[in-house]
Amino acid sequence: MGERQYDVVVVGAGYAGLSSAERLRRDGYDVLVLEARDRVGGRIWSAPQPLPDGSLIKLDLGGQWVGPTQNHLLGLLDRFGIRTQPTPAAGAETYLFDGERLPELPLDVERVLDELDRLSEDVPLERPWTHPRAEELELPFAAWLRQHATASTARFVDRAVAGAFLACGAEDVSTLDVLFYIRSGGGVASLASCEGGAQESRIDGGAQRVANAIADTLGAETIRFDEPVVRIEQGGHQTVVVSTKGRYRTRYVVVAVPPALAARIDYTPSLPTRRAGLFDAMPHGYAMKWQTVYAEPFWREAGLSGIGIYDEGVISETFDNSKPDENGNPRGILVAFVYGSEAHRLRELAVPQQRQLVLERLATLYGESARHPLTIVHHDWSTDPWTRGCFSAHFRPGGWTSYGPALREPVGSIHWAGTETAVRWNGYIDGAISSGLRAAAEITAVR
Ligand SMILES: Cc1cc2nc3c(=O)[nH]c(=O)nc-3n(C[C@H](O)[C@H](O)[C@H](O)COP(=O)(O)OP(=O)(O)OC[C@H]3O[C@@H](n4cnc5c(N)ncnc54)[C@H](O)[C@@H]3O)c2cc1C
Repeated sequence: MGERQYDVVVVGAGYAGLSSAERLRRDGYDVLVLEARDRVGGRIWSAPQPLPDGSLIKLDLGGQWVGPTQNHLLGLLDRFGIRTQPTPAAGAETYLFDGERLPELPLDVERVLDELDRLSEDVPLERPWTHPRAEELELPFAAWLRQHATASTARFVDRAVAGAFLACGAEDVSTLDVLFYIRSGGGVASLASCEGGAQESRIDGGAQRVANAIADTLGAETIRFDEPVVRIEQGGHQTVVVSTKGRYRTRYVVVAVPPALAARIDYTPSLPTRRAGLFDAMPHGYAMKWQTVYAEPFWREAGLSGIGIYDEGVISETFDNSKPDENGNPRGILVAFVYGSEAHRLRELAVPQQRQLVLERLATLYGESARHPLTIVHHDWSTDPWTRGCFSAHFRPGGWTSYGPALREPVGSIHWAGTETAVRWNGYIDGAISSGLRAAAEITAVR
């Protein structure tokens, strides 16, 4: 096989890789994108689902929401003329706390969330490891909660913060990373809210539309599908990127894949120990996103918004995702998230049992009608070979201080992108876009 020469080879056609490639192309670079899947968008996948009456409804199986201050994504929506719709949020919210059903967050939970907000303000976003109390804050978030909250509040915050933000359990993640993530997304309210927050709007036609639009501007010849990169060989003045189908000579490489996938690429020479260790220090979350489609949003009749956080049972959080199907018929849709140890336990069951447990729990929370959806949909991103986790990766206790400095540090001709390397909106589509633009800027700065 011949070796064609490129200026830049981008590994991965998620939002990070696409954004990087487009910026570099605009700056006159000869760019090739190698993508393992047969589509662009990575963790964003807007897939039509069949309903029993023969109609289709497009559901975002991965990321879907966009909110204020996510200016990179908002800018792309504006540029491509793609509209958004507000996430339905009218009605009473539901919080299960210590055996009680409440319409508002308990005061003690508010107190702990305020404390997290306050502490997060001191985290240097570009270099969290330089925080004056970094070592002390690298304790597991579960340990921090034991010191600062009652057992009931700790259980709730475990689900509402470690679960809902980082898609893991409080025992998995460094407190410093929790604080970094909170500041990166503009504070607890910004991360948790619909109106005024990260869940404010859905993208018309699905969140993959923007990725498709960027891919169109790049042109079919720029992206090669079904072509995972297996090795990157650096030597002298040039680098060779080896995929399952070919070898490509290039001056620069942008690796824009999640950490667990970047770790599986073979690097010659080996990566510096700190960079290699970073992969182990950054495990992926393991949340599950289920969607149940109903003939109508029946929970609204009871004055409920469908939005809630629950400190017991398999489901930790729900949202109303109702919208019309492809024929324009309005449908009621609930999104149910499963976090932490509940996600581990659920995955041990066969899929039909998983569905049954999710529906039973929805029926307990929202009434018998919830037990009989038109369809129930879930994609397991944790076992998907080209993602291996959901929503994104987090730092283990001790991870930021030991390995953080390697996060964005180029290794020879290799530049690192992906939402996990973002400073603002880390873990989100917006962070993925900014990370791709930052990696592109590193390369253009060399010229
Ligand atoms: C269920 C779920 C819900 C979410 N909800 C939201 C939300 O509502 N809003 C939001 O902003 N964010 C959300 N997120 C997070 C968001 O999806 C991600 O932050 C973002 O899509 C990451 O983009 P990326 O380009 O960094 O990585 P990815 O999207 O993971 O892209 C990486 C690409 O690299 C490819 N790849 C991997 N290995 C190789 C290889 N060896 N060679 C070639 N290609 C390779 C993959 O196939 C993939 O296309 C959610 C994520 C999930 C899973």
